Amino acid sequence: MAYQTLYLKYRSQRFGDLVGQDAIAQTLRNAVEQGRVAHAYLFCGVRGTGKTSTARILAKAINCLDRRGAEPCGVCANCVEIGSGAAVDLIEIDAASNRGIDEIRDLRERVKYLPATLKVKVYIIDEAHMLTTEAFNALLKTLEEPPAHVVFVLATTEPHKIPLTVASRCQRFDFRRIDTGAIAAHLASIVEQEQVKVDPPSLALLARLARGSMRDGITLLDQLISQGGEELTVQKTHELLGLADPDTLVRLLAVVTEGDGAKTLGELQRFYDAGGDVRQLVRGLLGAIREAALLSVGYQDAESLGGAASAGLERIGRAAGRNALLSLWKGLMEMEPEVRKGADARLLLEVTLLSNMTRPVPVTVPVAAPTTEAVGGERVIEPAMDAEPAMLGPDARWDALKQRLPKMVGSLLMDARLAEVKEGLVRIEFRYPAHAELMQKASNRETLLAAVREIFGADSRVELAAGEKKPATPAPAPVRSAGSIADDPLVKEAMNRFDATNVRVTPRGRG
Ligand SMILES: [Zn+2]
Repeated sequence: MAYQTLYLKYRSQRFGDLVGQDAIAQTLRNAVEQGRVAHAYLFCGVRGTGKTSTARILAKAINCLDRRGAEPCGVCANCVEIGSGAAVDLIEIDAASNRGIDEIRDLRERVKYLPATLKVKVYIIDEAHMLTTEAFNALLKTLEEPPAHVVFVLATTEPHKIPLTVASRCQRFDFRRIDTGAIAAHLASIVEQEQVKVDPPSLALLARLARGSMRDGITLLDQLISQGGEELTVQKTHELLGLADPDTLVRLLAVVTEGDGAKTLGELQRFYDAGGDVRQLVRGLLGAIREAALLSVGYQDAESLGGAASAGLERIGRAAGRNALLSLWKGLMEMEPEVRKGADARLLLEVTLLSNMTRPVPVTVPVAAPTTEAVGGERVIEPAMDAEPAMLGPDARWDALKQRLPKMVGSLLMDARLAEVKEGLVRIEFRYPAHAELMQKASNRETLLAAVREIFGADSRVELAAGEKKPATPAPAPVRSAGSIADDPLVKEAMNRFDATNVRVTPRGRG
């Protein structure tokens, strides 16, 4: 027999099997038993909460030849026909597909005919909000004068997109997100029937990741079993899902709340090197921060990581305090929309963590050290300030600059130093090339330049340099050396034409 996904294999077959939708199941049971099934239903709710499963159970229950109370028997000809997916009188339409639109178009004609084999024709229209206006109109005509032998079930994740004229002719049910405990318990029963070993922390983790969708939970479990074999531990589960394991989360959160910037970046590096996914790490951190906060006030809930991880988080929670955890949490939550807009998730995470350090970042590079060897073999001259505005020393101006900048841009300077201030050129050296690159992005660069001009003088220019590497492209006006300009194809051409061997190149607007 071909492999059947766990989701299909363990799909609910009776109202009594539905997980987390007790009120809906009970109302439908009553309707079936009392012969008061409506002509049209609207099932609303996020994906994977049991909408189409419930619709199929309802189809069986009203067609079953040997019903037990409200429950379908599962073995009569009608139940078997519906279960096999071959019933001509159970019409499932995916409104999101092109075919769905055609099907709705001739629905008005076909709906008149009596069922071929079942007692009642059932139309299940999935993603019903995707129907076109034309299709909704056709459907509305049918709903206004519903034939006695037809039941419609419209399922949707976006009920607000269903026209009121249609919705008002349906009995509406709102399917709730299924709670984590119920998903974990259901996964446990599947694991037992499949005779595979998956430890309870793994099941709790999957349930959490499913976010209220039983289908997502079962699909994840299916993937894990097919990749991970017969025995899954929580460490292996984390590894297979590309998640940060609890130890990593605890270590990372510890160094962040201790304010150790270098160790924080080191932990992140190790995570990336192991092939970890940034978004999963952020999600894991959010969970760990939540747990640290709860444990610090003496509360432990079902989503706890458990064991040594929880003990570590409790210590962190007590040491860092609620405000620090809350601000870190908010910072991480604010990342998501930025990442969706195309921001570099990894850089953003680094900046978010660094900017939320509860204590100052230890400075590992001496700030504005006088006359030391610097980038590119040049000598750094002790910052020589112009007369205006020269009230502040270089250190004070550097601090003022960091404070003047918006948080996100300012935090990029955390591990940077003021390398040189000379003749209006403000040279900033970054410890991490990635931070220099991020600062190099247009909007950040402009923000920085504006602040530099306020603090270092209106004619200031900015040059960014990264770590050991050569200076990054200077901003705002790139100043190229004569050598690099001489390599320009246009300049070469000009030099050939004029038979020039020694050309002095003066950048535009200067000299
Ligand atoms: Zn039956």
